[in-house]
Amino acid sequence: MARDAWGRPLRNLRISVTDRCNLRCQYCMPEEEYGWLPRDEILQFEEIDRLVGVFTGLGVDKVRLTGGEPLLRRDLPRLVRLLAARPALRDIALTTNGVLLGAEAPALRAAGLHRVTVSLDTLRPARFAALTRRTSHAQVLEGIAAVPRAGFTGTKLDTVVIRGVNDDELNDLVEFARTVPAEVRFIEYMDVGGATRWSREQVVSRAEMLDRLARRYGPIEPVIEESSAPADRFRLPDGTVFGIIASTTAPFCADCDRSRLTADGMWYLCLYALRGTDLRKPLRAGASEDALRELIRDRWQGRRDRGAEERLALRDRSPLIQIARLKEDPHLEMHTRGG
Ligand code: SAM
Ligand code: SF4
Ligand code: SF4
Repeated sequence: MARDAWGRPLRNLRISVTDRCNLRCQYCMPEEEYGWLPRDEILQFEEIDRLVGVFTGLGVDKVRLTGGEPLLRRDLPRLVRLLAARPALRDIALTTNGVLLGAEAPALRAAGLHRVTVSLDTLRPARFAALTRRTSHAQVLEGIAAVPRAGFTGTKLDTVVIRGVNDDELNDLVEFARTVPAEVRFIEYMDVGGATRWSREQVVSRAEMLDRLARRYGPIEPVIEESSAPADRFRLPDGTVFGIIASTTAPFCADCDRSRLTADGMWYLCLYALRGTDLRKPLRAGASEDALRELIRDRWQGRRDRGAEERLALRDRSPLIQIARLKEDPHLEMHTRGG
């Protein structure tokens, strides 16, 4: 198993299958216009699968398909089927905004997908429209309902909590998640990629979220577990479990075993990394499996990234990347990198 300069294993690969999206979330894609990755540079499913084979040889046993909106990629179940045939993968998950999930959930399940995470920031249709600049809220709720119907368990709902936007819905989302059933995870607003309007004041910290939930539900206990999952899990007095991903105020870089592959085959060692490694070029030039493995091992062994911790140490913190720079390189966008 490959280990980086801090001894962190290479275990978790997030694969962005497209940079396109059918929503325009204010914290991810706030601008009017975007430059897109050229279509002929997008990896074919067989190419993604081949790279995954190289990664599993170095210790990766968990993959997450994401985007952009991964369900915009035509015939995604075919990629799932290729990956599900790899016994080294213990976990194949999907992160989606849910808009197209109602139609796709059964085929994804049949193809061998293990788990689904749906991003859901609000239960209020008008608020959803303001936040995403699209009116597909009902479709998202239908998509969520389709997940247990298709036979999935271990479902998660991810909510980015933003002060003054949706921070009054924590309790409602806990209640809603119970009915799905799913585990809700509240994510601190991060200053990554396209979050060009981020400000520290809009971040609701884990401590504040716990405080608010405790006022409604009573004493909250942490769930004790050994894992490198980025969520801290907590239990309400009635046994309901929820998560908080404190990536902004209490980052977890020391245990980070995640890296990211973009739809055009750039590999990033950190969500905040400004530069990545082009894997498409050697792949298409016919590099052998051994050569690709050595390239990936070499990069991982040199990894010292701890982007969120470095951001936390900044006194004067404004969005990581300004809009002009984002326009020059779409790889810096969260919707390209996959979140
Ligand atoms: N489109 C899919 C979706 O929304 O689930 C997958 C890609 S999206 C980039 C993955 C996750 O990143 C989503 O849960 C989204 O809420 C999260 N995200 C995007 N921008 C963020 C930000 N500035 N802070 C925290 N999370 C963010
Ligand atoms: Fe929203 Fe996900 Fe699309 Fe970003 S990629 S705009 S978070 S739906
Ligand atoms: Fe991992 Fe980078 Fe996120 Fe830290 S900031 S947890 S190193 S991806």
